[in-house]
Parts: sequence; structure tokens; C-alpha cells
Amino acid sequence: MASGTRSAPAQQTRTKWDIVAGIAVIHAGALLAPWTFTWSAFWVFVVLQFATGLLGVTLCYHRLLAHRSFRVPKWLEYFLTLCGSLAVQGGPIKWVATHRVHHAYSDRASDPHTPQRGFWWAHMLWLFAYDELFDEPENVKRFASDLSRDPVHRWIEATMAWQSVGLGVLLYALGGLPWLVWGLFFRTAFVYHATWLVNSAAHLWGYQSFDTNEGSRNNWWVALVSYGEGWHNNHHAYLHSAAHGLRWWEFDVTYLVIRGLQAMRLASRIRLPQGSPARLSDPWPGRAPVPGARPVPVPSLSL
Ligand SMILES: [Zn+2]
Ligand SMILES: [Zn+2]
Repeated sequence: MASGTRSAPAQQTRTKWDIVAGIAVIHAGALLAPWTFTWSAFWVFVVLQFATGLLGVTLCYHRLLAHRSFRVPKWLEYFLTLCGSLAVQGGPIKWVATHRVHHAYSDRASDPHTPQRGFWWAHMLWLFAYDELFDEPENVKRFASDLSRDPVHRWIEATMAWQSVGLGVLLYALGGLPWLVWGLFFRTAFVYHATWLVNSAAHLWGYQSFDTNEGSRNNWWVALVSYGEGWHNNHHAYLHSAAHGLRWWEFDVTYLVIRGLQAMRLASRIRLPQGSPARLSDPWPGRAPVPGARPVPVPSLSL
């Protein structure tokens, strides 16, 4: 629970072996990529990483569902959510709830993936540890109450694994092993690490344009592989902005796609930075420090 007396590590009580096995299988399959390369498989990879990574996770799960930084028609929201679900990063309700926990407690004890517990913890190890704050169904429901009331989102959540099994069967039927490896295993592993770098590298390395009282950074190379999500300090400062790149060099392809949807009259009410940047208040004054934690220096810069 998100009460003020919680100390996070005590809540991580067991290993989620199903997640360990799933991620291991994805990576094992991805290792076959060099031996199964064909140009058609490569282009299947390109199209599907765009569909699941950019449209699905970055544009839909993150900027649309978690932060409601713009609006699209419901049919498009559901289609884009399906794209996100095919990234195998969890259903939309669980993903959004976990992400909102990250913003509520960024680089504090209850942040699901703070690099104050080490790079690899923030990058992927956190996924393997059960944490009641974002694993208990009642807490998931609480942090994503809007989505958990929607029966279509609940259905997408419940059938997530089967959607990828179906896609895998389709890819194998259409293009044999090369399409299966490049379109499912290698593509999923690629998008995993692009997303995970936002949690690890973009909370460690880069510059801060805003004093947000946590460790988020703007990192150009994370932005390149994660479709603009690497401008992460800007995002922590302006959570509801559809644009994460705010300076001329901060290339943000996801925002360009949102503007493209707007030009096609498919996106509206696009939110941009307004007012003072958000600064995280400390929800646990006097909390016990996380074991092994290093203080994250937060320089004060202004835009
Ligand atoms: Zn966010
Ligand atoms: Zn963050």
C-alpha cells in the first residue's frame, strides 16, 4: 500500500519465476537472429518494433493511457492498446499502474525501478521481484482505476499472452522461422531494452533541465532508441506533456507521430508544458534509507 510508513524492500518477498522464464525464453529466441536473417524478416522486425514499441508502448501505454497527454477516438485507443499488449510488457492496466507508482515515488524507497538500487535492478531485475505495491490486484486497480473500469482494457489485459502466441503462429505460417525470430523474439527483446533503458540509463546519465527532486535525466542516445522517451527529465517535470523533447535538438519521434495523428484529425487536446515544472515532494520524510543507496545529486538548472 502507498501509506507513508512503508519501507519498500521488505515488501519484495518472492521471485516471480513466470516472468523470469518468459523473459529468458524471449532472449533465447532473440539469440537466433544472426542465423535466421533474411531481408523480409528484417522488415517485419522494423514494422513490428514501430507498431509495438512506438505506437504501442510509448505513444499509447505511456503518453495516452498513463498520462492522458492527448485524446484519440476510443476505437483507436483500443487498437493502439493492442499494439502495446503485443510488446509483452504486461497488460495496459498493470503497466500503467506500475508507471504511476514510479512517478509517485521516483527514486524513493517505493519506486519500482530506481537505479539507486543498482543499474541492473532498474534495468530488469525489478521485474522479477514480487512487490505488493504494484503486484497486488487491489493496488493495481487503485493506481489505474480509470482503465480497470473499462471492459475492453480488462479483456486486452486478460488475453495478453494469447495475443502474442497468435502473432507468433501467424508469423511462422507466413515467413517460417526467420519471421518468427525477427518479428517476435528479437523484436520483443529489442523493445524491452529500449523501454528498460528509460528506467535505468535515463535515471543515471544525461543532463537535467529541471530540478525535479529525483534522478531523471535527458539522455540523447536513450531518446534515439526509445522513440523520444529519453528526454526523461523533461517528462518528470511536465508529466502531462505529449511532447518530451522540449528544445530544438531534443528529437522526439513519438511527438511527431502524435502531431501526425492530429493532422489526420485522429488526435486532439494535445497537452504541452504549462506553468512551473513539477517537483516531487518527499512522501517519506525521515524514511529508512534503501540499503546500498547512493544519493542522487540533483543540480538546479533552468530552461
Ligand atoms: Zn511517465
Ligand atoms: Zn522516470
